[in-house]
Amino acid sequence: MTATSAVRSEEIRASYQRFPRWTQHGWTWITGKALPGQQPLVRLNPFTYLLCDLVALAAGIGSAWWIITRGPTWTLVLLPLSWCLTASAARVCSTVIAHHAIHTRFTGRIRQDRLIHQVLSTLVCTDDADQYYEDHVNLHHRKETFATLADPTIQHLLMLGFRPGMSTQALKRRLALMIVSPRFHGEFLYTRLAQNLVRCAPYRRVMGFAYLASVLGVVTWQGVWWEFTVAVLVPMIPIYQVVALLEFLSEHAWFKAKDGSLSGRAFHVSHSWGRFCGDPLPPKGLGRSAAFRAWMRWSARLVCYHIPARVLVVPGDLAQHDFHHRRPSTREWVRAAYARQHDIDAGHPKWPAYTDVWGMGDAIGRVFTILSQEKATEWGLGGEKRRTSEGTQAANSSSRMVNDAA
Ligand SMILES: [Zn+2]
Ligand SMILES: [Zn+2]
Repeated sequence: MTATSAVRSEEIRASYQRFPRWTQHGWTWITGKALPGQQPLVRLNPFTYLLCDLVALAAGIGSAWWIITRGPTWTLVLLPLSWCLTASAARVCSTVIAHHAIHTRFTGRIRQDRLIHQVLSTLVCTDDADQYYEDHVNLHHRKETFATLADPTIQHLLMLGFRPGMSTQALKRRLALMIVSPRFHGEFLYTRLAQNLVRCAPYRRVMGFAYLASVLGVVTWQGVWWEFTVAVLVPMIPIYQVVALLEFLSEHAWFKAKDGSLSGRAFHVSHSWGRFCGDPLPPKGLGRSAAFRAWMRWSARLVCYHIPARVLVVPGDLAQHDFHHRRPSTREWVRAAYARQHDIDAGHPKWPAYTDVWGMGDAIGRVFTILSQEKATEWGLGGEKRRTSEGTQAANSSSRMVNDAA
């Protein structure tokens, strides 16, 4: 369900008010969209937010470890839930908490926040602070380079074979191939390791080596490679990497032609949207069997599609990434669903209206539609027309790969 008008989106979220009032914070968490005027139930700060995330990470790994070592056989059906928890918490570590630390929005002090980024990125093996600052703050957030060939995410998409001018069917096939491609996963992992152990400052290299050597040393010493593989490596490598790909494929209107008449703010807005998870509730007044079918379908999509998408692909404030582009310096990132809605309630002063997209499939579909409508030659790719040094650089870029696009 795509809702590009704020009114329609408000209606979708408002339909959930047929559920009891005490459940509404839960629906805000699941969908990512708050009700007008709604205030957060709990006011976390960055430290309590981090603590909750580390508890979730430990619970995910611990529960998976227990299932495969001591749990009754039937608990194996719960293993995917443990993997989801671990992968989600790891993504929050890197793309939410470490991300806002690089914006100096954890303690508010540059040195401490850089250190927090370095520790968290070491923990989940992603970009070190220096590389991330360059890719994210200097390139992704700057209006001159945001969503251009200089943006590392666009370079990454080109490297993976997502190119302007491809049909939406070809792009979907490309995505399906990437998800199961050993090469995609191998290169992604290689890049993560290289950014931790080679392409970083010496002190960060020491951190990466010491951490990985200790973990792998203990695993070898205790002879628990099988348990470690199932409980840690599965969620932290293949699952993490697939959801990272889905996240940045749905994040911005990559390759949407830049309208030169737009201001910097309007450009950011034209390329950004909120990604919400949920369907409108079935209408009232249906017959008994039609209502049963409609509710079964609504529930199945919620449990099997929308909640996994929210937990894995757009956890934390990734659902409100458009709000982050408007307010990269806000301290409200720990409760971004509410803060974004408060901004809408206030008339989003000095900024154009928000765009809301409901459903991860729709968000990815928007990006694929834009890609299919653009011409490779217009981007200096695959043709002689308007070939630029930037384009050549992007097309040839195979040595660098961003882990996280937020
Ligand atoms: Zn940012
Ligand atoms: Zn962004």
